[in-house]
Amino acid sequence: MFKLALVLLALGQTPDSVRYEVDTLCSMNRVTGEDEANNAATYLKWALDGEFESFKFNTRRGERRGKNIIKVVPGEEDGQILVCAHYDCVGGIGADDNASGVAAVLAIANANIRFKHTVVFALFAAEEQGLVGSQYYVENHQKPIFVLNFDMIGHLKRGLRGYGESPEIEDAIKKVMARHSFSKSITFRSGRNSDHYSFAKKGVPVVHLFTGLTPTYHTRKDTPDSLNYEGICTIIEYARELLVAVDGGADYSFTEDLPVLDGDMK
Ligand SMILES: [Zn+2]
Repeated sequence: MFKLALVLLALGQTPDSVRYEVDTLCSMNRVTGEDEANNAATYLKWALDGEFESFKFNTRRGERRGKNIIKVVPGEEDGQILVCAHYDCVGGIGADDNASGVAAVLAIANANIRFKHTVVFALFAAEEQGLVGSQYYVENHQKPIFVLNFDMIGHLKRGLRGYGESPEIEDAIKKVMARHSFSKSITFRSGRNSDHYSFAKKGVPVVHLFTGLTPTYHTRKDTPDSLNYEGICTIIEYARELLVAVDGGADYSFTEDLPVLDGDMK
């Protein structure tokens, strides 16, 4: 209970407020390229207090447009930290995949935490169509020093997955991990299964927070009532601690040509 009280004080986030966000997103079309998805983009621009970043991409059915939503919070130190989630979905209404991750980004962005580095909050479109929105971002912006990606954090039970290529990032993760019993099973590897891969392949240290595949993945059963909202709040608090730890770190080493293992979803 004490831990929960700290969560409330730190971020003003409750299971109910996360549920509200997930319900709101799941009531909207979020298939990138469909006209109706503009409503979700417009809502998220308002919710994040961000800007649109529009891009075009080709699909088998012709050219489509997508809109990332970006918010930049300037800091004093060189280097940008990117906090992201994709907001598009396929095969259902996408509560776990990925309204859960969007709710986490909104919670952290709207907590007005004072970071030393510039923090960019990004809600990417067209992830499900091949990491298109994050690929567009990485080709058109300064390379971040660290990326924290939320994709499918609605089923906290056994743990999270993460990845730290740079030793400094791995140290920061381990310190934060030691304070949270749930995250002991975090593994320092990453797949090409979500937007963090667009950055990992450029040598950027990334962490993908992910509670694992479930039978509801990409089905109509991925609904708001199936998620663990206390678990999402726990992960948001964990992510906040992780960001503060990385923000307080010194120089980060970069690796090119990162070996990336095959992921088990997209
Ligand atoms: Zn996803």
